[in-house]
Amino acid sequence: MIKPKHWLRDFLGLFYPQICITCSEALIGREVFFCADCLQNLPKTNYHLQADNAAYNQLAGKVPVQKAAAWLYYNKGGKAQQTIAEIKYRGNIAFGKWIGRSLAQDIQASGFFDEINCLIPIPLHPKKRWQRGFNQTEILAQGISEIIGIPIDCSHLYRGKANETQTKKSLYERWRNTQNLFQVRNPDDLKNQHILLIDDVLTTGSTLEACIRALLQCTGIRVSVLTVAIA
Ligand SMILES: [Zn+2]
Repeated sequence: MIKPKHWLRDFLGLFYPQICITCSEALIGREVFFCADCLQNLPKTNYHLQADNAAYNQLAGKVPVQKAAAWLYYNKGGKAQQTIAEIKYRGNIAFGKWIGRSLAQDIQASGFFDEINCLIPIPLHPKKRWQRGFNQTEILAQGISEIIGIPIDCSHLYRGKANETQTKKSLYERWRNTQNLFQVRNPDDLKNQHILLIDDVLTTGSTLEACIRALLQCTGIRVSVLTVAIA
């Protein structure tokens, strides 16, 4: 279904030039989403080239993880934050898929995706997904899947009860709340699979940690992680 605001943006595009998502300069020639300068200067981590990287170390101390990578460094007001906001809050689906394809193209040659059986985007709570109309991690996974040809699985890992108001809870209570958020349907289906979890930003890692803990009930499962950015 075409959303009205997307239709409107396409219509306005006839009169107003397309602009760069990060610097708002008008795009020229074959530029899409970013101007050549911003595209050239995306703050890439190259974590996929080093097994022992900050994303891996952040998770591996807490849960068993095969490999982990994050594509960009996330800084307040920086290009990665603008990129994620454009997808998540402005609902730019075409851009989200393009980001998924771009990061997959960057990472593919390193062999990072070798042995991965399926991509699992971090689920949103159904109510939140319904309100937003999409899940940004699914959009990213779709772009990645287009390049590497590995299927996406949105049916096994799911999110249980909604986050209760967290403000009055202690740090431990909040952490424990997050750890019970995710469940796995038919865990036997994922037996001996190597899963790649997809998320937008790795910050504290507690959401990914909770997903990995839930997935570990599947016999012989291996889990790796890929995010657009790391804070
Ligand atoms: Zn730019």
